[in-house]
Amino acid sequence: MSAISIHNPILLNPSRKLPKSIAIIGAGTIGPDIGYYLKSALKDLTLILIDINPEALICAVDRIDAYVEKGLKRGKLTKAQAIAVRQNLITSTDYAALKDCDWVLEAATEDLDLKREIFTQIEKHIRPDALITSNTSSLPAERLFSHLVHPERATVTHFFAPAFQNPVVEIIDWHGAGPELSEYLRWFFGITGKVPMLTTDAVCFMLDRIFDNWCNEAALLLDIASPAEIDSVAMELVHAGPFFVLNLANGNPIIVETNTVQAADEGDHYTPAPIFNEVDKWETNPPGSPIPVDPETASVIRDRLLGILFSQTVDILDRQIGSPADLDLGCCLAFAFKKGPLELMKDFGAQEVARIFAEFAKYKPNMPQPKKPISAYLDFHRYILVDDVNGVKIITLRRPEAMNALHDQMTDEILEVIKAHENDPAVTGFIITGYGTSAFCAGADIGKFPAMLGNKDQSIQYARDCSRLLIHLDSCPKPVVAALNGLALGGGLELATRCHALVAMESAWMQLPEVTLGIVPGIGAMVIPYRRWPKSAKIFNGMLTRAEKLTARTGLEIGMISEIVHYPKDLIPAALRQVAALQNKPHAITDTPVEIGGFEPSDAASATGQILSREIITIIEKAVDQAAKAASLSDALDIGYEAFGDSACTKAAREGISAFQERRKADFKETG
Ligand code: NAD
Repeated sequence: MSAISIHNPILLNPSRKLPKSIAIIGAGTIGPDIGYYLKSALKDLTLILIDINPEALICAVDRIDAYVEKGLKRGKLTKAQAIAVRQNLITSTDYAALKDCDWVLEAATEDLDLKREIFTQIEKHIRPDALITSNTSSLPAERLFSHLVHPERATVTHFFAPAFQNPVVEIIDWHGAGPELSEYLRWFFGITGKVPMLTTDAVCFMLDRIFDNWCNEAALLLDIASPAEIDSVAMELVHAGPFFVLNLANGNPIIVETNTVQAADEGDHYTPAPIFNEVDKWETNPPGSPIPVDPETASVIRDRLLGILFSQTVDILDRQIGSPADLDLGCCLAFAFKKGPLELMKDFGAQEVARIFAEFAKYKPNMPQPKKPISAYLDFHRYILVDDVNGVKIITLRRPEAMNALHDQMTDEILEVIKAHENDPAVTGFIITGYGTSAFCAGADIGKFPAMLGNKDQSIQYARDCSRLLIHLDSCPKPVVAALNGLALGGGLELATRCHALVAMESAWMQLPEVTLGIVPGIGAMVIPYRRWPKSAKIFNGMLTRAEKLTARTGLEIGMISEIVHYPKDLIPAALRQVAALQNKPHAITDTPVEIGGFEPSDAASATGQILSREIITIIEKAVDQAAKAASLSDALDIGYEAFGDSACTKAAREGISAFQERRKADFKETG
């Protein structure tokens, strides 16, 4: 794969503007879903749906309409958004409608000759600079586009079902198109809420090597178990079994096509199971309702599903088809695997992985086997992306499924990068930002905390342990700047305010929601903002005891945020300016006590009217007051950890954490 210059797609400089009109060729299963995503993401977009079958066009518009209705009903779409999706939606059976398009996205039947002919036709109608992409599941860009007059503006953008929800899009880096095209597409998908992944032009690219072979292996197991039994065993690893997903995506013909292509290229061991040609829909169980399976049969199913998963994983990495972090994240996001294959390998350990490979080799000796020790496949950053821009390391928190929330592994990865470069003369500083356009960091995973409720000492130690990165930032010899690309909540805000400067998108906002969960933010929020910006103590009081939101604009006014920008592309340049401005300026949060005044009498209600726990509010007020008076920063932080321990022993914390786990609003009326 060609070297990626910038991993975080939002940081790329787009070589084109946003498209004003996009056409989708093929309005079958996935075409309308891609259309709905595009119309939802770009409010002024003109979308042209083209199909040779007029019936398909009628169904496609009905389908988009149904999504809009559902969105309205669930409050996910405003009336204005619904109108925007429904307008400028054109259907046609005539390719002449492509004339003014900025981008034609092909999602027609999976067939090489048909697609090549479609691209020939497309090229006759569109401007020479208009983009062409294909949603093929398996066919390399080289085979699809090399006959075109302008192949350099064409590549594969491979979506996953359901395409309006599933965030993953593979973008194929092939020799006929320059890096500008894939960079533009990565940027485009990044700013429209997707998770783009760059792969090489191998047959089936990266993720369908996993999914199609996983499904094929499931079908090959049908001589020993039923689809429902196989799905039930698979549910240990994924939320929905392969047969259930095949039903959803009308996937049987696609597996036949993709595995036939893979078999032709790479060997008969990829041949599709003949049964795919005979069955339309599978009788199986939905996610969450597995049926009992005889243990011996279950163990064969498990071993073979893991065998194919691990075999494809090592092959993808040995051939550098995609990156290990994308592979693990892609499997979780695109196919709802509970853990990525590499994380599974790590959990199983080298010996068990070797056993699974050995068993699989007995059954399918030609399937790829590892070419190096398993540990060598597992050494990569899973949860952060690291970029270097002019000697500044940009660390992007990437857990899009959790709004980039921190957990132990992510914390350690950030720490590792900072420690590795903080004494490197070639590095002038660090920027920490979040992946995507909506969240910097939504806080910290609840992790082991529920088990500590009622145990003050353990909770205090937990808060100390969770502070290891923040404590390190206090004495980091190089500037560390937080670039808030979106919301910063709880632990995410504690991380941001521990950075030496903050810059933000105008749309970013901050909040400390802990009080609504019956706990306190124990790793700095009751200390750091007061020591850094003591004049704004009242604002922080409101954030801590009422969960009031702080906008980036107010943050700028009170001096907490150094610069606000309006466009994502301007965020990192602003952060780079702060890194430059802070060169050789030691960062120290004051050890001197600060004068912050007292709290207003509390009505024990949040900014949105939720009744809060008086006991927790009292813990916060006391800790903030004592921490402000403490003789050193370290003493002040200790007071915060202690208050966290106190909060963990309240009835309110038990109620708040249970409510969080049960996805309901906490009720503090009884707990006090
Ligand atoms: P589909 O069979 O449901 O729909 C294909 C549509 O293309 C049909 O409506 C057909 O009438 C139309 N079509 C055929 N020839 C055409 C032509 N010459 N001009 C215009 N329209 C034409 O297929 P699908 O499942 O939507 O898949 C479409 C593409 O997307 C395939 O390449 C597939 O591999 C890929 N894909 C599908 C999924 C999925 O979940 N279904 C996921 C990822 C990728």
